Amino acid sequence: MLCKGTTKSGRQCRNKATANGYCHLHGGLPSKKAMRKEVEEAFAEMTSERRTEVDGIKIGCMLIIILLAFVLALITGDIGGFLKWMSM
Ligand SMILES: [Zn+2]
Repeated sequence: MLCKGTTKSGRQCRNKATANGYCHLHGGLPSKKAMRKEVEEAFAEMTSERRTEVDGIKIGCMLIIILLAFVLALITGDIGGFLKWMSM
């Protein structure tokens, strides 16, 4: 199936159409492959340093959440519930 859009020169676009009938240039849906490529490129743009930073932030957030849950468990005396939550 070809794209339903027209090119700059007024001719029918000859690109392969996506699910909605248009190619990626004419507002078509990005293919899974294109999306994956974009994600991969975005990830590749991050240097290993940046990646470590992001991981650090994630781990920091996790620790804060766990700490808060633990404090809440201490206050409510529901350590069992906390352990159950942790094992989820
Ligand atoms: Zn097109």
